[in-house]
Amino acid sequence: MARYTDASCRLCRREGTKLLLKGSRCIGDKCAFTRRSYVPGQHGKGRRTKTSNYGIQLREKQKVKRMYGVLEKQFRRYFKIAAKSTGVTGKILLQILERRLDNVLLRTGFTLSHAQARQIVGHGHVYVNSRRVNIPSYLIKTGDIIELKTSEKKFKNIKEVLEVTKEWGKVSWLKVDNDKLKAEVVRLPEKEDLELDVQEQLIVELYSK
Ligand code: SF4
Repeated sequence: MARYTDASCRLCRREGTKLLLKGSRCIGDKCAFTRRSYVPGQHGKGRRTKTSNYGIQLREKQKVKRMYGVLEKQFRRYFKIAAKSTGVTGKILLQILERRLDNVLLRTGFTLSHAQARQIVGHGHVYVNSRRVNIPSYLIKTGDIIELKTSEKKFKNIKEVLEVTKEWGKVSWLKVDNDKLKAEVVRLPEKEDLELDVQEQLIVELYSK
């Protein structure tokens, strides 16, 4: 499976926002964006450029893609699905991204980042409705039950993760049972549920050209 492997912190600095790609390292003053909030590269600090409309739309699309760890081809595919669906395209696009199994796992608080969630799913530790699912892009639906089944040792690690993520709070569209490492999708996520600074309309405008 293709994936982006460049240094995660460079992506945050390039997009000018904290994309929270490294879990607990993103909290506090270890964060590279907190320390150097300018674009990476030799001349990044003094760079002043006037951004065109196209540039603004492109950056928004790149930001969202990187937030969810999705590559261009798949992101475009999600856009096509959203455009064909009934409803507001931008909002449906965000909903599809939120419904990805790796993202749902992150929202449960069982993992600290999308990358970690993808690893756990890829290693076959995640079950949806009692069936093992090892595809991070699997899209959950209302009523699905997601379970994390793992060894005693890893279970201890996840308990430590839960200690960190309990500060983040839970999302209202998931009913999470920390003791059983289980979550139920009570409804699909809406744009209003996302604590993300995203202008999805810019992405729609970009792809509609
Ligand atoms: Fe981004 Fe900061 Fe996390 Fe690095 S540590 S991935 S810069 S939020």
